[in-house]
Amino acid sequence: MLSIGTHLSSAKGYLRMGQDALSIGASTLQFFARNPRGTKSKALNIPDLTAFSQLLQSNHFSPVVAHAPYTLNACSSDSHLRELSRQMFAEDLALMEYIPGNLYNFHPGSHLKQGFETAADYIADMLNSVIKPEQSTIVLLETMSGKGTETGRTFEELAAILDRADPAILPKLGICMDSCHMSDAGYDMMEGLDRTLEEFDAVLGLDRVKAFHLNDSLNPRGSRKDRHASIGEGIFGLDGICRIMNHPRLRHLPFILETPQDLQGHKREIALLKEHAV
Ligand code: FE
Ligand code: FE
Ligand code: ZN
Repeated sequence: MLSIGTHLSSAKGYLRMGQDALSIGASTLQFFARNPRGTKSKALNIPDLTAFSQLLQSNHFSPVVAHAPYTLNACSSDSHLRELSRQMFAEDLALMEYIPGNLYNFHPGSHLKQGFETAADYIADMLNSVIKPEQSTIVLLETMSGKGTETGRTFEELAAILDRADPAILPKLGICMDSCHMSDAGYDMMEGLDRTLEEFDAVLGLDRVKAFHLNDSLNPRGSRKDRHASIGEGIFGLDGICRIMNHPRLRHLPFILETPQDLQGHKREIALLKEHAV
């Protein structure tokens, strides 16, 4: 059974966001737990979070994904920004426990010329100091396009970060694949999809993947541009997107559309992909 949803805004409340998801035929969704370009979080509205959690359960949603703010950079060269990132990460994970059993996705970060090894140490440091073995939320590292000094472009880099994690928290760590990013990073997500997934499995293990950002890309493979295209309007085309969505090793995942569409456009994309789900 295909599980698909889109990125939605929590600005009008969590329950309202869940209702928006239902109105477009979604059975999962993604949201920012705070202003994605700022640092301040709103005071928690616990009754709203509880009502949202109940809506997800009673409508049999797949796990939903909170996306960390873009301002979070665990491997910044600025110690103040690293500390701010750690605080936002801890606050967001505290919020997630009011909607237990879901996912929190973050960009591993930009190393800003410090090099990958230093960055990986900083990222693991944030994970090890904040994640608790008893938390219900699984934290996902997103596969990145490699734009600028982004870490997490290759499977090896993601593995090197996970290798630095305390074994006690490893069950709370996973990966969120992003089809646009993986292609932009240089991986073949079209004819070579099987081979790419085999490579991922060998380096990281496909069982680490807990969610999938299903996006077409405006740019050719290896471009490192990170420009998402709507379903069928990029280099994959509808066929390519459906091949990913229906792949036997991926089809059980919650798929999140991060395509440039409004609510009605997303409703159409969801309906289109449901038609093509095998
Ligand atoms: Fe992302
Ligand atoms: Fe993404
Ligand atoms: Zn992106």
